Amino acid sequence: MLDSIKISDGIYRIPTLFSHAINSFALIDDDDKVVLIDAGLKGSTKKLISALDSIGKQPTDVKMILLTHAHSDHLGGVNNFNAHSHSPVLIHDSDKKYAQDGKAPEVESALAKVFTLFNKNIDKVSITDTFKDDDILKVRDGIQVIHTPGHTPGHVSFYDKKTGTLITGDALFNMRDKITHSVKLFCYDSKMAKESAIRLGDLDVEAIGFMHGREITQNAKNTLKDFLIKKSQ
Ligand SMILES: [Zn+2]
Repeated sequence: MLDSIKISDGIYRIPTLFSHAINSFALIDDDDKVVLIDAGLKGSTKKLISALDSIGKQPTDVKMILLTHAHSDHLGGVNNFNAHSHSPVLIHDSDKKYAQDGKAPEVESALAKVFTLFNKNIDKVSITDTFKDDDILKVRDGIQVIHTPGHTPGHVSFYDKKTGTLITGDALFNMRDKITHSVKLFCYDSKMAKESAIRLGDLDVEAIGFMHGREITQNAKNTLKDFLIKKSQ
């Protein structure tokens, strides 16, 4: 069985590739239903189901799938998982067309384009609804949508008000337990990504969950602020 990793009260990280290369998150709402953030690559369904099982949940307990952005390592698993779950799927307004057309946004890097390192074709995912910056989703004590564009135009991070947990999406990475900016090679606009990440430093953060890397649960706010200050100088 694949274990979920608890990062704060009612919030679990689900590794869908290796131990922390690609992560999804499960948030338990007050009605005991699950909100899933991202669904990993196409082949992630078994892992998602197994990790949910480790916290006593089934795919049918999932009542909503939130997507941080329209890249294949985040929405590739939606269709297969949703065959078991039948949940509404939400994404930011500006990434909706990419998800529905099955084409990821352009990347700025000529290198990535030339060597086709970046696969533009993604699964077509039908989107039930969209959210926008500063929306408060009625889950737990409110989940705030923070539009952090740059990695993609409609990239978002999420902030759980109940626990002060920030789910970064790809606005920030924590591979090798070191915070870094979004990988430039896969960015629509890496300068914009850096600028929009600065907003995350204003939050009262107790814990940080990353889609790529392990969580930070100790001294999270200062660690994040130190990184953002150092990188903006
Ligand atoms: Zn990613």
